[in-house]
Amino acid sequence: MTHSDWTIRSQIAQALGKVDAPSRAVVPPIHVATTYIRDPDNQYRTGNVYGRPDNETIREAEGMIAALEQARAAFVFGSGMSSAVAVFLALQPGDHIVAPRVMYWALRGWLMKDAASWGLETTFVDMTDLDAVEAAMRPGRTKLIWAETPANPLWSITDLEGVARIAGKHGARFAVDSTCATPLLTRPLEFGADIVMHAATKYLNGHSDVLAGALATNAVDDFWARIQRNRAAMGLILGPFEAFLLIRGMRTLALRVEAACRNAMELARRFANHPQVLEVLYPGLESHPGHAVAKRQMKGGFGGMLSIRVRAGEGAAIAAAARVKLWKRATSLGGVESLIEHRASIEGPDTPCPRDLLRLSAGIEDVEDLYTDLDRALPPA
Ligand SMILES: *Cc1c(COP(=O)(O)O)cnc(C)c1O
Repeated sequence: MTHSDWTIRSQIAQALGKVDAPSRAVVPPIHVATTYIRDPDNQYRTGNVYGRPDNETIREAEGMIAALEQARAAFVFGSGMSSAVAVFLALQPGDHIVAPRVMYWALRGWLMKDAASWGLETTFVDMTDLDAVEAAMRPGRTKLIWAETPANPLWSITDLEGVARIAGKHGARFAVDSTCATPLLTRPLEFGADIVMHAATKYLNGHSDVLAGALATNAVDDFWARIQRNRAAMGLILGPFEAFLLIRGMRTLALRVEAACRNAMELARRFANHPQVLEVLYPGLESHPGHAVAKRQMKGGFGGMLSIRVRAGEGAAIAAAARVKLWKRATSLGGVESLIEHRASIEGPDTPCPRDLLRLSAGIEDVEDLYTDLDRALPPA
């Protein structure tokens, strides 16, 4: 990776400063070629051979993500899900996984319904309880602990150092879905994680117009090589046009995340005192059970995601989401526009999500407008 006198923030604003050599363009061209000319002596000296395993534009995006996570290597994928599943499929049949009960619902669904056909077994635990994690470990069989922090949709906080210690003791790898923390607030590799994963669809791209996933690591080993082969074999790589959009999005990551954190904190404080709100779930509030750990491992903010529980119950929550005008009623998160979602509706019957919960993704709009719009939408006492 690039070593530089400049901070990561400065480097990322300039997409690592790469300039197109022939034209001197400050934005490098998008490399759309699927194939490359072989050298006359039968070599491929540029490292470029074919579009499915690798691509120049993809490598630019990967360089930025590796810089953001201070990692030795990064891979980008066509979605967050495909990046996560590529990790699980790098395990061997018979391997055991420890995963959190509170986690991104589609990935939990894959682990519950599909992982078994690859011979993988998963135990779901309360990842905020280190004793429960330790108790779930099966000596010699547990090969991966998967965590997510802050975790959807309750924003539970995992003590990364604590879980890394347990993984290390048992010879298991530790992978962290850090989508909602973003590399600006937490760098899980610094707390002992082996692999960090991002749904780059969310904050990294930030404009709700690209599906992408990313993995980063400092352990460039056989397991990492297997992930790379999974990506190549299944064609999980991100397309060059999408990679370009992701690169462009990441240039403004710092500004967007700062604005989202500020807005989320302000909304959490105000709705915590709102008569129609039963509870605000946000790790930035002292009332949140993960606040102390979050304070230790999140730097510069507690993220842009929060949830509110509507005092009058599920029907009132759905009605409030129907009445907002500025907030957009949609799933997903991490974009510049604020989103609101009745989360239980999408997660299905096995969700740990309370029925009265509205998940809020704070965007970068004026916080007064965001508060006023949702305040008006909540049912009167
Ligand atoms: C969206 C999301 C994913 C999945 O990413 P996709 O790009 O939608 O496949 C995984 N984890 C978290 C925390 C997410 O928010």
